[in-house]
Amino acid sequence: MNGYAGKILRVDLTDEKIEKQPLPAKLAEDFIGGRGFVAKTLFDELPSNTDPLGPENLFIVASGPLSGQFLPASGKTHFGCKSPATGGYGDSNMGGHFGPALKYAGYDMLILTGRAASPSMLVIEDNLISIKPAGTFWGMGSLSLETRLKEEMGEDFQILTIGPAGENLVKYACITHDFGRQAGRVGIGAVLGSKNIKAIAVKGTGSIPVDDPKALLEEGKRAYRDVRAKPGFNGWTPEGTAGITDWINRVGAFPTKNFQTSYWDQHTKINGAAILRELKITDKGCYCCPTPCGKYGKAKTGLGEVYVEGPEFETISLLGSNCLIGEISEIAYANYICDELGLDTISAGVVCSWAIECYEKGLVDREAIGKDVNFGDLASVVHLLECIARREGVGELLADGVKLAAQKIGHGSDAFAIHVKGLEWSGYECRNAPGMMLAYMTSDIGAHHARAWVLGHDLAGSSGSVHDLIVSEASSEKLPKSEVTGRAAKVIESQHLRPLFDLLGICRLQFMELGFEVEHYERLYEVVTGKRMTWDEMLSVSEKVWQLTRSISAREITGFGRRWDYPPERFMTEPVPDGPNRGHCISREEVDILLDEYYAMRGWDPNGIPTVTTLRRFGLDDAADSMAGWACFQEA
Ligand code: SF4
Repeated sequence: MNGYAGKILRVDLTDEKIEKQPLPAKLAEDFIGGRGFVAKTLFDELPSNTDPLGPENLFIVASGPLSGQFLPASGKTHFGCKSPATGGYGDSNMGGHFGPALKYAGYDMLILTGRAASPSMLVIEDNLISIKPAGTFWGMGSLSLETRLKEEMGEDFQILTIGPAGENLVKYACITHDFGRQAGRVGIGAVLGSKNIKAIAVKGTGSIPVDDPKALLEEGKRAYRDVRAKPGFNGWTPEGTAGITDWINRVGAFPTKNFQTSYWDQHTKINGAAILRELKITDKGCYCCPTPCGKYGKAKTGLGEVYVEGPEFETISLLGSNCLIGEISEIAYANYICDELGLDTISAGVVCSWAIECYEKGLVDREAIGKDVNFGDLASVVHLLECIARREGVGELLADGVKLAAQKIGHGSDAFAIHVKGLEWSGYECRNAPGMMLAYMTSDIGAHHARAWVLGHDLAGSSGSVHDLIVSEASSEKLPKSEVTGRAAKVIESQHLRPLFDLLGICRLQFMELGFEVEHYERLYEVVTGKRMTWDEMLSVSEKVWQLTRSISAREITGFGRRWDYPPERFMTEPVPDGPNRGHCISREEVDILLDEYYAMRGWDPNGIPTVTTLRRFGLDDAADSMAGWACFQEA
């Protein structure tokens, strides 16, 4: 099958049973790859009522047809599971080199089930698959272990690791690869930890069949040339995602002090320019990437000196402004601690800022929290991160995320627990950006920006690339008055567009940030697979996958529906106190208007559940047939 390695590798860790199966052609035709494979496999194979941290949960790795090809930024890999953070559909993607290596070893997908009897690692060397003892590595940091495994096994192996957070089943534990690339969200690292797997190493020496190698070479060269010729290439690439920091602050979307406000006058100390000035040693990119957004550097702080990749924008936002850490070196240090412990920097930043606010408000005392913790204090943040990863002291409470922690603490602390569905909110404050608010509310994994990003449209009326926004002074001059009606169409369009790259197995940033044209992807798909699929046809597959992921959450979460889509109370009751969006918040009535419009356009019922008619329209007959038994219809 052109474009695919052609096999699925299944490992049952309980029985140590290893199976290699042909990749079904119909799966590739109907779901393309990556996120599509994850969603379809979870829908078909996840046993009902599975504990996300129990042996029955699936841990899935999947690449797409463009992964591992001679194309710009073709190193994306998708991970999936039932999410420990939300209890519903979960996926997370990662750059680096792992997905291509897995394909070269012969596998488009890896599916782990069961639980190893003792700490183990999985080694894939082409046809040779082994489960090896990893007890001596248990407790090691992610970065340290990757260094050691590379030394012991050789540079040719691509390595995934979990840190202590994954071992201790922290619900926002991540997977780390290539010394700083993470599959960060939904607690995927905890799922690997629950399976007693500390690391996965893969070495592949095979090749991937393509339909027209000569045309691929030509198209690939043309794609590299065209990316490099984009006006944003020399503007966006040097700072990477951190380059957006000033614009985000200018339009009043910069999460600050646990989302109490959305503007911070210290932003120039922690922006992309600060990274170049104070940290950066070299650029660092993923497989075949012409626009390396990783910035590898050295951070010196009062707590120590570290080498680290990052911080990228999300980390600047959540471990930086949201915790009032106003030195880029200190944010980079906290970033390093998260990477070594195996914590998602987004969720970890939100949890730390919530805990500090609880402490300030007297809801958690000094004895419980272990020390004075304050906004703006790196030592406070590091203390909390260490406690969380090891579930020590207050870490036992915080390791389950802000939603559950707030339920335990009570006293109104849920009002400022910033999450949707149990997944902590990522880097954009949007009380004056109803479209972006709706995107967070309806993201299929919980509050995450990567599923749809319409902030430029909301706050600057722009549909251009991120680079266009950054360089456009005009876009910051006046903010449009927020209107909640008419937002759903743009959000839905973005929810099909962005995840499409996760089906193809390629980075979206060249398209999103630089405006790299869709015609390239149509043509590349054709020369790789030998099949023609228009961009609109690909988008319709992405739409089908969206219906399926919503169905999985509706099937898995008792009482799932509209109330799971509400934003945090803070956004509905506390107007932004300062900055460009001063005075703005969104009312519950406006939230309901947003949801009504969105559900109707999606073909869902007023509670946000896909209807039988809608599911059948997308050929999801299995989902339509099983609806009556879904957990969403049970009393919560
Ligand atoms: Fe990786 Fe960044 Fe390049 Fe995308 S733009 S492939 S995330 S280095």
